[in-house]
Amino acid sequence: MDDNKVKKGSLVIVSGPSGVGKSTICKTVVDRLKDVELSVSLTTRPRSNSETDGQDYWFISEDEFRKKVAAGGFLEHAEVFGHLYGTPRDKVEQMLDAGKTVILEIDVQGARQVKALYPDAVMIFILPPTAKVLAERLKDRGRDDLDTAEERLDGASAEIAAAWQYYEQMVINEDLQQAVDECVQIIRNARAESEDK
Ligand code: 5GP
Repeated sequence: MDDNKVKKGSLVIVSGPSGVGKSTICKTVVDRLKDVELSVSLTTRPRSNSETDGQDYWFISEDEFRKKVAAGGFLEHAEVFGHLYGTPRDKVEQMLDAGKTVILEIDVQGARQVKALYPDAVMIFILPPTAKVLAERLKDRGRDDLDTAEERLDGASAEIAAAWQYYEQMVINEDLQQAVDECVQIIRNARAESEDK
């Protein structure tokens, strides 16, 4: 590495269908690795009872969201299942400037926008072991009404098909610990590679 160049942090994108266990995997990876932080997205989706504002998401109105879009406040944003989601540009840039590895838990549309801006971003897609397991996990999660759960399941097939085209790393979440280990290894390898640059 050029000694005069200040080393910045790096981006890791984690995507996968609803109910696949992305959040649990990401939170565990953050606990396991030093200097890794999770970006908290903004969304217009209603907060569920199990979620905390500022922790799981920043829950905002559509009006606030659109104003932030107009002000260039998002690194990326997309509509997913009828609601708006976006990654806050300033917070992510601050973490990168501080040399952190930042995990973005976002959908395929957002991932492609980020990859265009940061070609070195590592892209990980989490897959369920089978479609049946995913359907059961979504049902057991009990967060959505039946229609929304169906919609999320339909969306999963399209997202998985797109993932084969765009993602370098696919991780199957059959066993949580194993999936976390794989993600940790992918991030360690990416960090080692960027140190060599
Ligand atoms: P959920 O409503 O289940 O929390 O999230 C629905 C989908 O939106 C998931 O695929 C999740 O990864 C994606 N998502 C969450 N935050 C963001 C974001 O900031 N940007 C984009 N593009 N997608 C997001």
